[in-house]
Amino acid sequence: MPPDLFGEIDPPHRLLMGPGPVNAHPRVLRAMSADLLGQFDPEMTGYMEQVMALYRPIFGTQNRWTFLIDGTARAAIEASLVSLLAPGDTLLVVDFGRFGLLLREIGERIGAKIEMLSVPWGETVPMDRIAAAIERVAPKVVASVHGDTSTTMAQPLEGLGALCRAAGAYSYVDATATLGGMAIETDKWGIDVVTGGLQKCLGGPSGSAPITISDRAAAHILARRHVERGIARDDLANGAGSRIGSNYFDLAMVMDYWSEKRLNHHTEATTMLYGARECARVALGEGLEARFARHAAAGRAVTAGARGLGLTVYGDDRFRMTNVTGIVIPEGVDGEAVRRRMRDDFEIEIGTAFGPLTGKVWRIGAMGYNAMKHKVLITLGALEAVLRAEGFACEAGAGVDAALRSYEA
Ligand SMILES: *Cc1c(COP(=O)(O)O)cnc(C)c1O
Repeated sequence: MPPDLFGEIDPPHRLLMGPGPVNAHPRVLRAMSADLLGQFDPEMTGYMEQVMALYRPIFGTQNRWTFLIDGTARAAIEASLVSLLAPGDTLLVVDFGRFGLLLREIGERIGAKIEMLSVPWGETVPMDRIAAAIERVAPKVVASVHGDTSTTMAQPLEGLGALCRAAGAYSYVDATATLGGMAIETDKWGIDVVTGGLQKCLGGPSGSAPITISDRAAAHILARRHVERGIARDDLANGAGSRIGSNYFDLAMVMDYWSEKRLNHHTEATTMLYGARECARVALGEGLEARFARHAAAGRAVTAGARGLGLTVYGDDRFRMTNVTGIVIPEGVDGEAVRRRMRDDFEIEIGTAFGPLTGKVWRIGAMGYNAMKHKVLITLGALEAVLRAEGFACEAGAGVDAALRSYEA
């Protein structure tokens, strides 16, 4: 055996209780070991149709254009913005955390004119301020995150779509961290484009990003259609408007690929599609309401457990995401040492933080397959032991007891 063959992949069994990724549901992993198919095989295109149907209820939409972007959640974010915006268009970003800054960064690269509507981390943006900003800057696109894992806050979105439509703007929402864990009402909220990822509340691996697009936004995007040289067909002409500044992320081309035309674009990531399909089947099989309740119960238990240990929970209770909880690192405790011991002694990963919260909070996620009572209790029990080992005085069992009580309430 050559000395450089390394070993077979055999990762430790870690319990991933950070802000994502989380442990994938075993059914999802099993689906991903199924045999491959050619991308135009009728069996495969049948699975693609099923995926479109399965993700409509998950997004709370009837949108025809509901499919997958091959790539992590960021791929769908970038595809949305690059396909909606042309250079010089105004992008209004509803900014309340790190992922708002990502929307700005992507918009800047497109050459859009950026208008930031920012609030301090830990807050959300009141809808009347969004309305005023739309009136002031007349944006082409208004982009917001739903749940921003960096701050653990969830932005209320009810009414955003109507405001945008009245102003002739398109709305985009990054729901990566909440899709499948908190209610996403694409149609009710009137949002034009919503994207997600698998590795948070949908309980899958990263690498496939569900997207849904309203007919109105699809018409705008398809009008910018660009046909690759050499494969142009009579029924398609290069769009009159400004071309979409990306090939891989050209949603018009990706829609042609997912339509009955099946125009070749990329090679659909078969294994990720199997995984995404099973994530949706698991979620819908459980029932979305039951699933949201399970995430909410886990979030409440983490919050109660942290408070039971005498810790402070970060952010505004009214707007907290149900699936990721920020816990303030107490004075005198080395946050990284705690995370290291959680990993080394208990095989549990909890999250650090970035930006203004670096070194100030841990983030504990209970998402998808990990939003379960026993995993929350095990995590709190471990955290208590580690905190004591790191010199923080807390009452033995207080975290687990409080979490248990919250489950029983
Ligand atoms: C986790 C997360 C992402 C990250 O996307 P990936 O490309 O899959 O790493 C984007 N947006 C939000 C709101 C997230 O929570």
